[in-house]
Amino acid sequence: MYSAEEKDRLARARQHMLRLNLKGRDITDPGVLKVMTEVRREEFVPEAYQSQAYADGPLPIGMGQTISQPYIVALMTQELRLNRYCEVLEIGTGSGYQTAVLSKLAKKVYTMERFGQLSESAQAVLGRLGIGNVEFYIGDGSCGWPEHQLPPSGYFDRIMITAAVPKMPEPLTEQLADGGLIVGPTGLSGVQELVVGEKKGGKIIERLICDVRFVKLLGKHGFEE
Ligand code: SAH
Repeated sequence: MYSAEEKDRLARARQHMLRLNLKGRDITDPGVLKVMTEVRREEFVPEAYQSQAYADGPLPIGMGQTISQPYIVALMTQELRLNRYCEVLEIGTGSGYQTAVLSKLAKKVYTMERFGQLSESAQAVLGRLGIGNVEFYIGDGSCGWPEHQLPPSGYFDRIMITAAVPKMPEPLTEQLADGGLIVGPTGLSGVQELVVGEKKGGKIIERLICDVRFVKLLGKHGFEE
């Protein structure tokens, strides 16, 4: 698919991203850094943008949506403190890039997307890459994963929302296990705050990380369509 030269150039760009945009900022988790070098972002962006796959910003993926900036993907992943036993819910499959990153650090990823076209293309890429521990669902992620298909425990250990929400949707915090973590951009304006919530005794204790800019989560417990 790529010429040897192009492959080489992309590999150098990936190392550059790792050094400057991830390690050069505050990404220190060795597992996250390893996965960010293993998952090739060029696989997840439209052909026209493949040469910019490691640029320090989001890129269009169709349907008016974007693949997040690599640093933000790494930061949100790091904040989830994943381990091999985690069942993770992701809202906003998009290109499937974040899904692939999560899948390599967790037991299983359950990912929801409202656009069938994006979900199907993400399913095709992950299938091609041989990633098998992901379940896809097309529908409104603000309402949570379908009750009758939840993981055996009935809860998720981690939840990541990859689109902006006015506040953490209740159906999602209800599906979070006690002691679990949820991360996502919250806020009513164009700029949101990246929030990490920890569930303790049924309550969510929130911590602010930084300002971010995400596309909106459109749905019943998100923004109005
Ligand atoms: N994580 C993605 C980035 C996704 S952008 C990646 O790595 O490429 C946010 C995604 O959330 C978009 O694909 C958008 O269609 C999706 N989305 C928006 N509202 C949604 C909802 N209510 N349920 C599920 N997905 C939603």
